[in-house]
Amino acid sequence: MNSATTSFLPNYIRGEWVASKATEHLDVSNPATGELLARTPISPKEEVDLAVKAATAAFQEWRRTPVTERIQYLIKLKNLLEEHCEDIARTITIECGKTLAESRGEMRRAIENVEVASGAPILLQGDFSEDISSGIDEIMIRQPLGVCAAICPFNFPAMIPFWFMPYAIATGNTYIIKPSERVPLTMQKVIGLIHQTGLPSGVLNLVHGSRETVDAILDHPGIRAVSFVGSTAVAKHVYARAAASGKRAQCQGGAKNPILVLPDADFEMSTRIIADSAFGCAGQRCLAASLVITVGNARKPFTEAIVETAASRVVGNGLDEKVHMGPVISPQSRERIESLIEKGVHQGATALVDGRNTRIDGLGKGSFIRPTILDNLSPQHEITGTEIFGPVLGLVHLDSIDDAIEFVNSGRYGNMACLFTSSGAHARRFRYEADVGNIGINVGVAAPMAFFPFSGAKESFFGDLHGQGRHAIEFFTQTKVVVERWPKEWSRKF
Ligand code: NAD
Repeated sequence: MNSATTSFLPNYIRGEWVASKATEHLDVSNPATGELLARTPISPKEEVDLAVKAATAAFQEWRRTPVTERIQYLIKLKNLLEEHCEDIARTITIECGKTLAESRGEMRRAIENVEVASGAPILLQGDFSEDISSGIDEIMIRQPLGVCAAICPFNFPAMIPFWFMPYAIATGNTYIIKPSERVPLTMQKVIGLIHQTGLPSGVLNLVHGSRETVDAILDHPGIRAVSFVGSTAVAKHVYARAAASGKRAQCQGGAKNPILVLPDADFEMSTRIIADSAFGCAGQRCLAASLVITVGNARKPFTEAIVETAASRVVGNGLDEKVHMGPVISPQSRERIESLIEKGVHQGATALVDGRNTRIDGLGKGSFIRPTILDNLSPQHEITGTEIFGPVLGLVHLDSIDDAIEFVNSGRYGNMACLFTSSGAHARRFRYEADVGNIGINVGVAAPMAFFPFSGAKESFFGDLHGQGRHAIEFFTQTKVVVERWPKEWSRKF
């Protein structure tokens, strides 16, 4: 069955594509053309329950499957993802809008997580201490939790489920993915490949839907842990509701990422990298630069250079290899972003480059906004602290690095902050003092590789253990400590 071309998307439960009985559906459209691609069912709670039952039934056998065998499915999946990388990248571009180069980059990040999770035989190892007391040994082992679930956002339809799913499966859990209702086709394709690996039925399930489906996941007593990525308001809701039903939760939220440019920075390099950070994926990245704080004399050279770079960006359909920036996800999103730009201008910001009312020839139904630069923002402006999640870069000018670090730490979010400088001393101080989860030094998108945790702090993250790497292994396992005494006198003589 070619599930990607079916109008009403099926769920994947117990190793089979199953039509949803949903009475409500949401349209999935290509944000560059407005073309209707599919319809996402808002799966009712009974369908979440079916997925939990399938995952529960599969759990006991899966947890008893040796880890060395479990990872063979991931190794097969890695090969299939490599083989179908270009096809899935096109699907990402068609439903999400980002450029093909960005979609290919996203696929690499997804694949890296499969590679790291394939190291589970070592990552899962416990601890052993001999003779903690006379003749007594102590062992710590890691065991899977049971059924776990992921609730995903629209902006990385392939990568974000992979921050969690390969680790959950490698550690012996069974799993349910709820993709974003706005970009369901990518996971539909990925699940098709997972099916080809021969993964035992019920180990991985997919349920489409939106908030009702999420609440059914959060309330279900059979689910032990939830991983969420999305906006801060929903992250808070998910964290509280998951905890209320006794679940382990890791919830990544929104962001407003500041980048400091010091007078001793390399302006040519900084401008190029910061423009890529701000306008890559049309600014719809949780690690997008959204504010630049120039310090002292950096103001003039940086402002002039970023204006020129922003204005020269080619905007259009992400499938066209000549395009630098695709559309935002939907007409509603474009309206929301344009009204935030309007609000900023109304509050006293200057639009040095204004991307509103963008029309691209031949793409009249696309949701395009060109790069926008809002100058003269101050820490007092409401827009300075608001997540815009679009191709809008705000400029704040401050006198000293002390003021700039204080400004960074006054924000409600803590996803990422970056510094551009040629001074090791400033870099070290920034790394030490900035209260955020991911730091970039002369780097514009400080995205941790799969063997590091995807950190985040303050209102960008609720929980303790992040996605990816060792954190994911710990999140998906519970520790058990065994204290053993085997007296020597009990040794039998044979
Ligand atoms: P969103 O919060 O609207 O949706 C995320 C998920 O939550 C979706 O699966 C959706 O179905 C579900 N959902 C939405 N509203 C809900 C509600 N009221 N109750 C229960 N579930 C609900 O986020 P989005 O627009 O898809 O993604 C963009 C946001 O995600 C941005 O804020 C961005 O910063 C954030 N994000 C954060 C990270 C990170 O690592 N911190 C990564 C990617 C995206």
